Amino acid sequence: MQKVSLSSVKKWHWLSNQFYLPSSVKINCSHCSEMVVFKLESSFNDAPRTAFYFTGACPSCDENVHFFCMGVKKKSDESQDPDALFMYPEISFIRRTKDYRNYIPEQLQTSYESALTSYNSKNFIATSVGCRRTLEGIFYYLLPEGDRKKNLATAIEQAKGAIDWAEPLNNLAHLIRKGGNLGAHFDETREPNENVARAMIDLLEYLFEYLYELPANIKHLENHLEQA
Ligand SMILES: [Zn+2]
Repeated sequence: MQKVSLSSVKKWHWLSNQFYLPSSVKINCSHCSEMVVFKLESSFNDAPRTAFYFTGACPSCDENVHFFCMGVKKKSDESQDPDALFMYPEISFIRRTKDYRNYIPEQLQTSYESALTSYNSKNFIATSVGCRRTLEGIFYYLLPEGDRKKNLATAIEQAKGAIDWAEPLNNLAHLIRKGGNLGAHFDETREPNENVARAMIDLLEYLFEYLYELPANIKHLENHLEQA
């Protein structure tokens, strides 16, 4: 059972104009770890414990997650928010690999999967090094052949001229690079922890989606519209 912050609730409603209850929750799925919005259904009123129980299906993996809302408030109560919200099962640590092979070169997918394997075995130093290595791969394929031998920091800057590269993405790439440096060089005071490693994978996936998946989907829609 895992406590869920009430700030994760996307929507509230008054059930039968009587009980103040969450109707959707935005949180990482217990099963696939994706950030999704659960629609809370199949509500059960546990009146003796002033609690309501719900089930929501993950829109990404279809698995069910159960939510337990404790200390539910009525219209006559002074405050509205329930005392606490819990979810079950707890968020799984194992992070599922996304399949980008339709969009990215095979070697990039392999490099990304290797970083994820390190993450799932809780080797966060290796994760950060793997993310940096994958980032090097991204820029290897982005830049024209003559520019590929450059060091990563230069390659990131070089890419600005080669592709439509917004400033936040440039900063994002430098962040992954710096996170990777943290893992690659010994420093007795700083090393990548779970939070850093997870954020690096999040950002890497974002880059794949922005640089490869989104343009491919736009192209697909364009073709579709031209034929319509
Ligand atoms: Zn899921």
